[in-house]
Amino acid sequence: LIQLYLPLNFLGFVYRQIRQSLTDMEDMFSMLDVPAEIRDEDDAEDLNAKDGKVEFRDVKFGYDERRPILKGVSFTVEPGKTTAIVGPSGAGKSTISRLLFRFYDVNEGAVLIDGKDLRSVKQHGVREALGIVPQDTVLFNDTVRYNIAYGRPDASEEEVTRAAKLAHIDDFIRSLPDGYETRVGERGLKLSGGEKQRVAIARTILKDPPILLFDEATSALDTATERDIQTSMREVSKGRTTLIIAHRLSTVVDADEIIVLRAGEIVERGTHADLLAEKGVYAEMWARQQSGDADD
Ligand code: ATP
Repeated sequence: LIQLYLPLNFLGFVYRQIRQSLTDMEDMFSMLDVPAEIRDEDDAEDLNAKDGKVEFRDVKFGYDERRPILKGVSFTVEPGKTTAIVGPSGAGKSTISRLLFRFYDVNEGAVLIDGKDLRSVKQHGVREALGIVPQDTVLFNDTVRYNIAYGRPDASEEEVTRAAKLAHIDDFIRSLPDGYETRVGERGLKLSGGEKQRVAIARTILKDPPILLFDEATSALDTATERDIQTSMREVSKGRTTLIIAHRLSTVVDADEIIVLRAGEIVERGTHADLLAEKGVYAEMWARQQSGDADD
């Protein structure tokens, strides 16, 4: 039996190590999506992102070089500011977030954080600089507390509670039979899409990164939940550079800049008011959404 026990115990250890080392950004992009060829250069420097300035400089990219997806995209998100990207399905919005994580290298142009080209820095620092609130947060079969603190397992009880309060999920958790010790995940309590997003927001607050990427859920949430999530997002994006991949326009109204992407090109940019006055693509999308039609 002992012969079986040792390897099994070791497997358990490996499993726990892997689970620990999965970072929240991997919840969003399946690991299979991450191409193996992205490696740190031998002379890669530390990113040490402080300000969190994000810059796309004339970025051209295609998953297959014969089929360009981004055709020369340029924008800058100044430290602490919020940029929202909107546009029809397939325009390349999520591709922008994958390039920011450097899951792929650009074909032409550059992606920079704090002025450093992502190709010249260590990947670890890039992932450290970014906090992501994905569309669909993966929850572990563990307690609510574990799920919030995951990514920063050393967080104190007060820190976890504070993060949950800022994410507007503390009241909900306290109303559960076992509070923060309630088990969630496949074999526990099922959380709704909105609750899961708030757990992700609480996680991000604990991680405290200078840059935040919010991938809004495609599926519609009820109005009250959506309002709660927007309030928590406003809270967590204070003082952080924020990039929102938006599927509904209600989320983007307050953004410092809205970028309208269509077929891999920026066709309009400006604030909500600017774009309404322009009476172009965005104004059209807005009018359609106000009348209750599909957003894309
Ligand atoms: P949506 O609003 O539907 O999420 P999007 O604007 O985020 O769309 P992307 O996910 O960036 O669009 O996809 C842009 C294009 O790139 C699509 O035509 C898609 O088929 C293609 N694409 C996305 N991921 C891959 C991949 N891993 N390999 C090949 N092509 C891909």
